[in-house]
Amino acid sequence: MKRRVYLDHSATTPIDPRVVEAMLPYLTEKFGNPSSVHLFGQEARAAVDRARQLVAELIGAQPQELIFVSSGTEANNLAIRGIAERAAPYGRHIITSAIEHPSVRGVCQALEQRGWEVTRLPVGEDGLVRVEDVRAAIRPDTVLITIMLANNEIGTIQPIAEISHLVREERQRGHRHLWFHTDAVQAAGRMAINVAELGCDLLSLSGHKLYAPKGIGALYVRRGVQLAPQMLGGHQERDRRAGTEAVPLIVAFGKAAELARQELDARIERMRALRDRFERGVAERITDVVFNGHRERRLPHLSNISFRYIEGEGLLINLDLQGIAVSTGSACSSGTLEPSPVIRALGRDEELARGAVRFSLGKDTSEEDIDYVLEVLPQAVESLRRISPLYHRALGERAERSPSN
Ligand SMILES: *Cc1c(COP(=O)(O)O)cnc(C)c1O
Repeated sequence: MKRRVYLDHSATTPIDPRVVEAMLPYLTEKFGNPSSVHLFGQEARAAVDRARQLVAELIGAQPQELIFVSSGTEANNLAIRGIAERAAPYGRHIITSAIEHPSVRGVCQALEQRGWEVTRLPVGEDGLVRVEDVRAAIRPDTVLITIMLANNEIGTIQPIAEISHLVREERQRGHRHLWFHTDAVQAAGRMAINVAELGCDLLSLSGHKLYAPKGIGALYVRRGVQLAPQMLGGHQERDRRAGTEAVPLIVAFGKAAELARQELDARIERMRALRDRFERGVAERITDVVFNGHRERRLPHLSNISFRYIEGEGLLINLDLQGIAVSTGSACSSGTLEPSPVIRALGRDEELARGAVRFSLGKDTSEEDIDYVLEVLPQAVESLRRISPLYHRALGERAERSPSN
């Protein structure tokens, strides 16, 4: 049987069997509605409370500060729309970065179409937002800053604590209606997160990026921060998100958060060692590659590489045929493949943006997995380059420049 290697953990992770085990009773006999008064309801309520505690512990929050939602996307929507709606009387200006996840980008765009002003801060070649740029972008009518903790395509970790510091200074100067949200969906379970240290007001999480099922996420809302609920018609989640709680998914998320906290250091160490070994192997075996994103300030599981002269999409398909799952940042919009806006934002030319491929490891990725990829990848790149006009043109130009070769 052909080997299968999953290196797309930034897109989603497999559910940990221990998480499945924890949630199973809530899919079967413990089916109560947490709002019901009877024993069935109490059982479900207790499970939700426990899970809330566990997710809170993962990020150093208080349980009451968490709102369970259906996804990271919903957490981002609730944070941005919830603050925007609430703060509209004080101003309608939002600051964000050029490399946010589509779920943040999309909400900002929608608000813009309704009369909000959005400042999108550029990033450097390393993918970092400059704190000075944030400072310069703040206006009296700025009500929200939303900048991700770690990027999902290149893994770059933004200076969130420094930006929070800035926000607090602003508040001390009387700018009371300014809130700071960070999308930590990609970061959670891959770096230590503590909301007190980060200093943000709101923070988004998603279960399926940390070995829980799809369909569950959470928004941290610092105590005292008011936001307009986006789901109405029930008192669940302290009136901030109506709808009967997804008890089995919440329990799963709690278990996954507990495991992530307990195993975090070991997971980080393991993934980083394998990722670094992978990158060394690529650098040794393949010419004309560019590593994207900051070299140090980045998540331990992710490697984004541009392969010159070829399309990332072609490489993805070639690797897929050999059992290896990776991804490109490109969004297939209306049938045309657009190069990743994130890679473009780094200042890379279109060819490099098109040639970018993301390899994202998981807690259970093995040395054998990486060795297999290092065996297959050079041949895949080579065979695609052989049929690439760009490659042949470049070879020709090189030969002209050094005729002795
Ligand atoms: C995956 C992801 C999301 C979306 O989370 P879903 O639960 O899939 O909706 C948001 N932001 C980042 C950075 C992500 O990686």
